Amino acid sequence: MLSRRSLLKANFRAHQQPIRLPWVRNEAEFVDLCSRCNSCIAVCPEKIISKADGGFPEINFKHGECTFCAECVKSCSKDLFVPLNESPWELKALISEECLSYKGVVCVVCKEQCETEAIRFISKVGRASQPELTVEKCTGCGACFKPCPAQAIKLSYQYYKDEHDQTNRIKEKAS
Ligand code: SF4
Ligand code: SF4
Ligand code: SF4
Repeated sequence: MLSRRSLLKANFRAHQQPIRLPWVRNEAEFVDLCSRCNSCIAVCPEKIISKADGGFPEINFKHGECTFCAECVKSCSKDLFVPLNESPWELKALISEECLSYKGVVCVVCKEQCETEAIRFISKVGRASQPELTVEKCTGCGACFKPCPAQAIKLSYQYYKDEHDQTNRIKEKAS
């Protein structure tokens, strides 16, 4: 099993930030204090928390979406979380170039899954309309992830790292 320090170093080198539980205060503190007891994994009704590198819990949207029920937080005996009335995380959906709409195929699956209406489609003359994400409306729930037939959606903290624009619409390639 990876030590806490090795895990942090490995993630830093790989520029990867694992997706932890909602409301977690920060990664370093999480890796330091989480006892890897698995109680959050056991209580999650959506079964989206898995044991990952180093035995630490991670969210895996392949299994479903986060409903922000906070059962995982309530089950944890450690002081790892911000208050539940604060934003659960800064995670946002990113729509990649693998999206079928960029390949001329009509698909609105992600929009249909999104309760907050963060995804809308922009009409394109003579082409399939294309998805655009309104970042402020995206809660990072991951509901759009699993149903996407092209695995085109990622959940990422990248917006905040890059001080990105308001939307993540992929710039059109040469028309
Ligand atoms: S908030 Fe609820 S659905 Fe989301 S990870 Fe925690 S237990 Fe699972
Ligand atoms: S569900 Fe996936 S392929 Fe379909 S429009 Fe959305 S991102 Fe593109
Ligand atoms: S992560 Fe949730 S809120 Fe964000 S676009 Fe996908 S379904 Fe909508």
